[in-house]
Amino acid sequence: MPTKIGDASSSRGLVPQTQYTHADKTQHDTRAEESTVQWSIKVSGGVTYLIKFSANFFKKHLYTSSKKLSNVQAEYDKLGSITDEDARWAAAQDAADEAKFQRQLKHRSGDEQKCTVCGHPVNDHPNSGACTKVTQSIGLTGGTKNGKPERGPIHTPCTCTGYSPAYSEKRGLQGKPVLNPLLGATAQTNDAIWMDKIPRAVFEKVLHDALQARYAAVVPTPGWKADGEHIEWDFGAAQRGCILKLAKGTKIADAKAMGYSSVEVTITLDNTDPNNPIFTVGHLDGKKTH
Ligand SMILES: [Zn+2]
Ligand SMILES: [Zn+2]
Repeated sequence: MPTKIGDASSSRGLVPQTQYTHADKTQHDTRAEESTVQWSIKVSGGVTYLIKFSANFFKKHLYTSSKKLSNVQAEYDKLGSITDEDARWAAAQDAADEAKFQRQLKHRSGDEQKCTVCGHPVNDHPNSGACTKVTQSIGLTGGTKNGKPERGPIHTPCTCTGYSPAYSEKRGLQGKPVLNPLLGATAQTNDAIWMDKIPRAVFEKVLHDALQARYAAVVPTPGWKADGEHIEWDFGAAQRGCILKLAKGTKIADAKAMGYSSVEVTITLDNTDPNNPIFTVGHLDGKKTH
């Protein structure tokens, strides 16, 4: 089956996987937890950049094609009208990816991210713990007025003792080690960097050049902004369509046809060692995608 799901030369290889034991006792791969991911990029003159991620950027924005060959095969079987084999497999992979990307988007929705115990969002559960939501309503205040039980505004604290969204519950049942890699996400739109569509050498050069240029321009003065520098990753005209603006129901073909190949990300500098600066990528500004 000549399916190409991002070979070693695509930047997909930059997304590390870890093994976990599925609830059915078989071994599966899952994306490594964001806090464990570090990319090191060698720069001339003995300098090495270390790149990390925060705020779920790693899961939210770095998309990879479906690796489930059975899903691709199922789509292939539906595409009998395409006679060219390569074209048929490519269309099958696109269809499987479209389904995967739509699933991932749904994991960010209120349906999957709000607490199933109390119905309140993660923001109402500090550190994923007890819910702090207080509901106001008109009810019995406990006092009396004109000889009758008094009614008035009352405040009812939520009694939920721990955040438990459907997405985490499902992953927990599957045995996945990271329960909610999208914690806090709610928007059902997303800009995805499609790692399979960017050659790894191109990806690394874009990151390297963008960081080096900004570092040289601002360090030591005026200094890297404490809340992060806004940096463009422009993967170039040859990679048009590698950035997908996804919303509910977006067709992959339409998203690719937009021809986006550039995003703006926010990167903080987390140390002062000029030979081994550590950068953390934490935000993508969807308004700057082009
Ligand atoms: Zn609640
Ligand atoms: Zn709750």
